[in-house]
Amino acid sequence: MTENAVHPFGGVDYPRTLKEFDEWFHSEAACADFLRRVRWPEGFRCPVCGKTVAWMTARGQLRCAGCQRQTSATAGTVFEGTRKPLRLWFQAMWYVTNQKHGVSALGVQRILGLGSYQTAWTWLHKLRRTMVRPGRDLLNGEVEVDETYLGGREVGVTGRETNKKSIVAIAAEIRGRGTGRIRMARIKDVSSESLVPFVQTAVCHGATIRTDGWRAYNALTGVGFDHQPKAISASRDPAHIVMPRVHRVAGLLDRWWLGIHHGAIRAAQLDYYLDEFTFRFHRRQSQARGLLFYRLLQHAVQQEPVPYKRLAGGTPDVPIQI
Ligand SMILES: [Zn+2]
Repeated sequence: MTENAVHPFGGVDYPRTLKEFDEWFHSEAACADFLRRVRWPEGFRCPVCGKTVAWMTARGQLRCAGCQRQTSATAGTVFEGTRKPLRLWFQAMWYVTNQKHGVSALGVQRILGLGSYQTAWTWLHKLRRTMVRPGRDLLNGEVEVDETYLGGREVGVTGRETNKKSIVAIAAEIRGRGTGRIRMARIKDVSSESLVPFVQTAVCHGATIRTDGWRAYNALTGVGFDHQPKAISASRDPAHIVMPRVHRVAGLLDRWWLGIHHGAIRAAQLDYYLDEFTFRFHRRQSQARGLLFYRLLQHAVQQEPVPYKRLAGGTPDVPIQI
């Protein structure tokens, strides 16, 4: 370990209470210092020449001792180009991670005293984007896969047909009697062309996939999965017995969607909300809310910055369904 990786806060990586949060992050400099430590846990390394010695400039940038290039700790992160204090960002992240079931943009605006709703909305979306890391590990072992429908009941539509609901594919690892990690994505229909690529991007090649008897899943065998279908109608077991994990996740997702967001999420934005749901689901039993704040900050400094236009546009690959 290099000297600047030694932690000044008694070996603890994150504040555990609001009081500690206020003490740790009492100034902009303290926030910037913490950000640098999270970004370069092994100490600074110049992105241009790789040298590990740098000086701090008067403007709080790091100047490489080798190539003289200046690097800011926020460059290439979600904080890049922000005109608001880092301290305000940290407060937003603390608030987001301390509300167990999620927050609305209005809530963020109020608690931080932000003048603009759009700023609160943009921040929330930027943070949501950091909640699931790109290149994250694939699920493995035995995995349940199913789809669920967000958007309320539709009159005159039966079975897997839908006219205006968003369809969400869910994969959940089977870990003994419990649930391991989950993955979710919006899909445009329940065909093999939609479901198989979802499984391929969410689950390790060769894993065992448990599904109901829906025929679109049969193509999984041909692409290297051990597909174990179970016909629900044939077994006469209801879905929550055959596929208890995805069924439970779908129920929680439905309650969260209606309870926190009142069913008012635009389909194009849904993927980011699913990422937030996944982030919270994985840490649902964690009592250490400060650790969530720390993880979110770790993700935030690994993430490429996203301009507002792209945030507002959502993900264009699936047609808008709500
Ligand atoms: Zn350099």
